Amino acid sequence: MLPYATAGEAEAALGRALTWAEAAWLRYSASVPDRYLHWPNIAITLVVYTLAPLPLALFDLAAPAAAAPYKLQPKVQHPPATFFRCYMDAVRVSLLIIGPYQLISYPAAKIMDIRTGLPLPSMGEIMAQLTVYFLVEDYLNYWLHRLLHTKWGYEKIHHVHHEFTAPMAYAAWYGHWAEMLILAVPSLAGPALVPCHVTTLWIWFAARLVESLNIHSGFKLPFNAEKYIPFYGGAEHHDYHHYIGGQSKSNFAPVFTYCDYIYGTDKGYKYHKATLAKLKELAGSDVQKGADNGFNGGKQD
Ligand SMILES: [Zn+2]
Ligand SMILES: [Zn+2]
Repeated sequence: MLPYATAGEAEAALGRALTWAEAAWLRYSASVPDRYLHWPNIAITLVVYTLAPLPLALFDLAAPAAAAPYKLQPKVQHPPATFFRCYMDAVRVSLLIIGPYQLISYPAAKIMDIRTGLPLPSMGEIMAQLTVYFLVEDYLNYWLHRLLHTKWGYEKIHHVHHEFTAPMAYAAWYGHWAEMLILAVPSLAGPALVPCHVTTLWIWFAARLVESLNIHSGFKLPFNAEKYIPFYGGAEHHDYHHYIGGQSKSNFAPVFTYCDYIYGTDKGYKYHKATLAKLKELAGSDVQKGADNGFNGGKQD
């Protein structure tokens, strides 16, 4: 609970006028106990998980012929029942994990030194913290993902996530409950190392989820970010990891590709891309657009 009852008290304490966002935060949080300020995380992530993939899912279901040129594996068409089963299963498992986490979120946030008061963080502070969180998350997630591809890890846990050899966005959360628990650690490591405001934490979880939905989308859209951000993997990078499946020794990184580059786990993917490029060159305009976008040229890993 904030120590100010009115905007005047808050402005006197800060020595300046409140921004509109700070005034809104004051109105929202002034009478809410701190422990409940962490609870919107679950609602935000569920809303993002439900709504963000919807446009592409509906496009894929309603107009498969129009969607095919943009799909990474255009020959695979998931029926509506698969979308629904994936969504319901993922929500069930995530509630199983996130639900109990809500009960310990407040003491965990206290230990991590997550603040809830004023001032709100600036845009620069938020961007700097998100950059750190993405880099920390990427490194830890890469190694945990590699562990999940050991014989034991794959057979006991990770094979569930790999049921989708041609993923779609809702498959981002589809997996064994233990995998959700394990991969929550890298997401919390950044904020534990570099504490932030609780609103930054909301943005971080939403941004990380959007990124996960994107890499599982199964679509390679013309405006994809990998064209503009160095070492950004994008959907094509992770789609290949699912396409290869349990035997994959390629593309473990979730967001950026620097770990795959440093540790040499991008060799199969590079070979595959080079083969596709050569085929395209040889066949010229005869190469199907699907083969150009997708993974129909033979598995190499
Ligand atoms: Zn995997
Ligand atoms: Zn995946």
